[in-house]
Amino acid sequence: MKIVFATHNPNKLEEVRQLLPSTIELLSLNDIDCFDEIPETGKTLEENAKIKADYVTKNYGYNCFSDDTGLLIEALNGAPGVYSARYAGEQKNAQDNMDKVLSELNGHSNRVAHFKTIVHLNLEGNSYVFEGIVNGTIIEKQIGAGGFGYDPIFKPEGFSQTFGELSAETKNTISHRGKAVRKLIEFLKTRTP
Ligand code: IMP
Repeated sequence: MKIVFATHNPNKLEEVRQLLPSTIELLSLNDIDCFDEIPETGKTLEENAKIKADYVTKNYGYNCFSDDTGLLIEALNGAPGVYSARYAGEQKNAQDNMDKVLSELNGHSNRVAHFKTIVHLNLEGNSYVFEGIVNGTIIEKQIGAGGFGYDPIFKPEGFSQTFGELSAETKNTISHRGKAVRKLIEFLKTRTP
């Protein structure tokens, strides 16, 4: 079975490809000659994930899944949420985004936050949604240079290090994206011989 992962990110693609059974051929947007910037105009992660998967299924006819992730901070009423990539502006700069979060949380004692990933799958005319969440806290000052995005300011529950300090392997076992993707893969395995 061929299935498209609606992403231009080669790292995300490879991560998923390694976990899939050999009966599933994973294609990227580039593989199907889709070089469009799919507009993420949804107001929720669920809407954006659906928009991306539907775009591919409707315009290219493929079974497809997509992912959308956000950091939700309790004291900021769920911000940056669906706007996580461009929280500090359209330049989508990770340092600017972290600086903005730390400044908005200045003086707040409630530092509770979670990452949430939604995976939307279109398969043979049906849609399925998988969710992965990791709870944690936003620390006062960034620590660690690993990972990407908000990793250096997010400390997952049960750990004394930030995502920016943990190895990619450890992060993947506990992360929002890891959890959602493993649910997707377990489901896909039940659908292939
Ligand atoms: P995307 O939906 O995977 O593109 O994620 C949207 C934005 O959320 C990214 O641009 C990052 O700012 C943030 N983000 C997503 N996943 C992570 C993560 O694992 N660690 C830190 N930040 C993340």
